[in-house]
Amino acid sequence: MNVLVTGGAGYIGSVTTELLLDEGYETVVFDNLERGHREAVDPRARFIAGDLRNPADIAKAMQAVKPDAVIHFAAYALVGESMEHPELYFGNNVRGGVNLAEAMLKTGVRRIVFSSTCATYGQPERLPITEDMPQRPTNPYGESKLMFEKILVWYQRLKEFQPVFLRYFNACGASSKYGEDHDPETHLIPNVLKVALGQGEQVPVFGEDYDTPDGTCIRDYIHIEDLARAHLLALKNPFCGALNLGTGEGCSVLQAIGAARRITGHPIPVKFLPCRPGDPARLVADARNARKVLGWTPDRSRVDDIVQTAWDWHRAHPDGYGKKS
Ligand code: UDP
Repeated sequence: MNVLVTGGAGYIGSVTTELLLDEGYETVVFDNLERGHREAVDPRARFIAGDLRNPADIAKAMQAVKPDAVIHFAAYALVGESMEHPELYFGNNVRGGVNLAEAMLKTGVRRIVFSSTCATYGQPERLPITEDMPQRPTNPYGESKLMFEKILVWYQRLKEFQPVFLRYFNACGASSKYGEDHDPETHLIPNVLKVALGQGEQVPVFGEDYDTPDGTCIRDYIHIEDLARAHLLALKNPFCGALNLGTGEGCSVLQAIGAARRITGHPIPVKFLPCRPGDPARLVADARNARKVLGWTPDRSRVDDIVQTAWDWHRAHPDGYGKKS
């Protein structure tokens, strides 16, 4: 099977590409390297440089590769940035998606595994979150992902597309080769580990008065190797529709920092700051459907494993992937 991976130079895309190649899939990475890293692309993959916002780039790549399926990661993914620059999010995540879908249509490619997010749900009415709960995003990032889900539903109804929407909760951890390197880094676990590496004095903790046992936000942290495996299972399975990918277990900001203190042996001082706008108190997945439909079990996602693998990667790559290529 021949798979085109958009955004295969990014965090989750790089690890999924690695796994696809390990499992014998012919894999082509399409990426503009704006936020991804050439060093993060497995050398066994064919690499095509291109931007989804340029219809000719993706049309040409699709024609050249004629994949059996597309895994679509390429997107902007920062909530805060999306509140300041919604145009980036609608421009890249929606317009880029439309160009991708059009190129698939022209080439007769129907299967797409789409990297979606729990941010499409917004503030949930109850927990854990099931796939049938209302999707009311509270920021342009979540809205842009939901818009592309909806576009794909129409292509499914009218053009025989076979889409799967994998709605990730909090992606984290690393494989032995590939890890998280964003600029700027806004995510909790890499920020915590940067302090342990001596690259920061204190970890900012956003909010201490949430209605949670220790007052800090609760999230459902899921290891990227577990996420990557769900993509492979989705390729092998005829299922179309949405699946949440999380553990079903919540972990607070202070619990995650506690795990990092144990694992790194560093005291990791914290500084409490006001809540980040739009941060819900708790987001936890009901991921029973992914288990049932795909036979997926997230067995890499204990918090200690997540922090340990991320710590190993950050220690081996204290400057991330280094200079962008
Ligand atoms: N967070 C924090 N300090 C940081 C980064 C994140 O306290 O330096 C908190 C954030 O407010 C949220 C949780 O950690 O409650 C996870 O944030 P992250 O940005 O990793 O993922 P998100 O849940 O926003 O997708």
